Amino acid sequence: MNARARSMFLRVLLTILIAAGFTLRIAHAQAGAAQTKLSVHWEELTAADFREGIHRSQGVCLLPFGILEKHGPHLPLGTDLLDVRYAALHAAEREYAVVFPEYYFGQIAEARHEPGTVAYTRGMQLALLQETTDEMARNGCKKVMIVNGHGGNESLLPYFAQTQLDKPHDYVVYVFDRRSPETGGPAKKTSIDMHAGESETSKMMISRPDTVHLDRANQESGADQHRQNLPEDVYTGIWWYARFPNHYSGDGSAATQELGKFQMDWWIDTLEKAIRAVKADDVSLKLQNEFYEKSKHPLETQP
Ligand SMILES: [Zn+2]
Repeated sequence: MNARARSMFLRVLLTILIAAGFTLRIAHAQAGAAQTKLSVHWEELTAADFREGIHRSQGVCLLPFGILEKHGPHLPLGTDLLDVRYAALHAAEREYAVVFPEYYFGQIAEARHEPGTVAYTRGMQLALLQETTDEMARNGCKKVMIVNGHGGNESLLPYFAQTQLDKPHDYVVYVFDRRSPETGGPAKKTSIDMHAGESETSKMMISRPDTVHLDRANQESGADQHRQNLPEDVYTGIWWYARFPNHYSGDGSAATQELGKFQMDWWIDTLEKAIRAVKADDVSLKLQNEFYEKSKHPLETQP
């Protein structure tokens, strides 16, 4: 190699080395960026990142609450779990909160006659939920937001929240229980729409379209069968089975992606606002503590 060739060779080598170094620096910076974006999934965080997550969320943790039950002839058993996690994870991405893993241990006695239903007993539902929120709080989630995805939990969750007053807790349980707006959006085609119907099927077309079998939606009837003759203000546990024995209420074939997008966007927006409100809430825990203190000696409580 003569002097000229050697100098050319060195110049080329130098260029390659500089380019390689530059590429490495970019790759390194990208890896760093990935590390600073904190996951909202509890199970994806390292222990140290979990500490940072609790700090960033100001102690707000979401517990999306699903169920395993039949959803008409056309939707998967985990519909409520899949939908509620989709909404909760998206809302937490916008307003940071740590999201607890899959939870589906709720009230679903009324679907025990259908395949695939997992119905824990009453005592187990309450005990497991209490231990779960206690454990969340012990890990810094001083504001536990239960995000309900399942209609059958509508009595369980307010009861659970109310009974947090039976003995002192150093955290607050908030229940968020809305999944669809009452008005607005694309006009609905059906009037009965309580379970696996137009709304729920539409939302699944957004969260997990690959699991929706729209062509099967009319294989069973989701009509109200009115098999009980009681005034509206008299309640029995069998009311749902009396009206909807196929565990299907409505007509999923009326679902559209447009309605699903409207409802899912509304759900995520409304939940995002609720997370912000819960973060800002500095009253509930204070009042709880005041209440627990007073309840130790009720005779001394003055108006
Ligand atoms: Zn459902």
